[in-house]
Amino acid sequence: MITLENVTKSYGSFQVLRGCSAKIEKGEVVVVCGPSGSGKSTLIKCINALETFESGQIYVDGTAVRSAGTDHSMLRAKAGMVFQSFELFSHLTILQNIMLAPRIVQKRETTEIQALAETLLRRVGLERHANKYPIALSGGQQQRAAIARALAMRPDVMLFDEPTSALDPEMVQEVLQVMTELAREGMTMMCVTHEMGFARQVATRILFVDAGEIVDDCRAADFFAGRCSERAQVFLRYEA
Ligand code: ADP
Ligand code: MG
Repeated sequence: MITLENVTKSYGSFQVLRGCSAKIEKGEVVVVCGPSGSGKSTLIKCINALETFESGQIYVDGTAVRSAGTDHSMLRAKAGMVFQSFELFSHLTILQNIMLAPRIVQKRETTEIQALAETLLRRVGLERHANKYPIALSGGQQQRAAIARALAMRPDVMLFDEPTSALDPEMVQEVLQVMTELAREGMTMMCVTHEMGFARQVATRILFVDAGEIVDDCRAADFFAGRCSERAQVFLRYEA
């Protein structure tokens, strides 16, 4: 579903990604972890072209990301993204947030989109909040709405960048619960997160990133059993 081939990126003279390669198969749940500033957000954003990169290549379901011919809207429909800061449109209701891109970008039928939006709202437990504006919702509810919005595009893969880091502790679980259900239903997922409990329960594989390199790429069971790099083991001692 996603192939990273020797992805390299710099911000000016600072090299943030140093030749990252990995493969994510359909149905896998890959957790990306590592110290703050190691390049995790940059890496995940390169996948749906929210960031550019200088060399190497990324394929999403066979489509090359770094190519003049690639339609970025199509790419972002294939790879749905959920951010730390929700990024809902504040002037639109929750229902309108969910329906916007399928209507404008994908030009799908309003009746179909409306039905799907209502199904998705039920799935994330927000059916009673469809006509509210984001500001009227808690952080956890906003993040669940953002997940529903990404799912409305019928993505092949979901990308999460620290989806629970901005939430009050009591709201973290409700978002992780939605993500866990999504994983159990077979969605291909790549999640940057510090939630090691979630990673233990749900991840099939762990990518440990440090200083712009994928230092470990291993089965979750191996990672948590300590069959990983010394750097990852030190990280785990502090995080888990
Ligand atoms: P992480 O998500 O692992 O915390 P990031 O990908 O956000 O790491 O950032 C990696 C490094 O790149 C950090 O040192 C950060 O300061 C730097 N960086 C991120 N975005 C930019 C930018 N737009 N311009 C310059 N440096 C940046
Ligand atoms: Mg980040």
